Amino acid sequence: ATVVGVLALQGAFAEHFAILSRLASSKNIQPLLVRTPSDLAQCKALIIPGGESTTIALLARLAGLLEPLRAFVTEKPVWGTCAGAILLAESVEGAKKGGQELLGGVDIKVGRNGWGPQVESFEAALVVNGLKDSATPFKGVFIRAPVVLSITPSASRPPIKIIAQLPSSLVPIHSEPPEGVDSSNEPDPRTIVALRQGQHLVTTFHPELTKDDRFHEYFLRACVLGSE
Ligand code: GLN
Repeated sequence: ATVVGVLALQGAFAEHFAILSRLASSKNIQPLLVRTPSDLAQCKALIIPGGESTTIALLARLAGLLEPLRAFVTEKPVWGTCAGAILLAESVEGAKKGGQELLGGVDIKVGRNGWGPQVESFEAALVVNGLKDSATPFKGVFIRAPVVLSITPSASRPPIKIIAQLPSSLVPIHSEPPEGVDSSNEPDPRTIVALRQGQHLVTTFHPELTKDDRFHEYFLRACVLGSE
């Protein structure tokens, strides 16, 4: 079986683990909670859960996992949900040098808590390219979610593929397009809530907080087992 890890330092790791466990026999995978470098070394792919990105990064440093995680991202499939998406971003708006530590690996810039305290959490029906039964919307659960501010693909990495967007009526508090973003560029990056870059998957919402296993099935099929 293919070992698929869930980073289990803080946040919604138990929910990811439960869904992977449900899919384990049909996909021939074995889920593993990752807390140490030797746990990580067993994994062929990794999910980084939602939670608090600064806390996860701090705990990863204390566990000696920060550098092993950075190396892992350069080689193997990783899916970041919400706080995990922030950790996979190349940069975060407002982060000072020496401030928030990131893993990087996906060529996006994000803003934390993009929808602001007044509507911290909301749900939206998403139509997602590539999901099984894709005409049936997926319930996107957004909890103090990050917002994608820009996409700047580097030449050395695969192109970014957008897989789900919000309607522009739900574009968050940044009422003006973010600085440096050409508003004539389609689509507005702030509408993007799920994307892929090569074997990596980013969702700014929480598929693990639904009863719907289709996003996990998609990650395993398209990114990990490579049979899209
Ligand atoms: N706001 C959190 C952060 O900045 C992410 C929220 C979440 O993962 N639900 O890390």
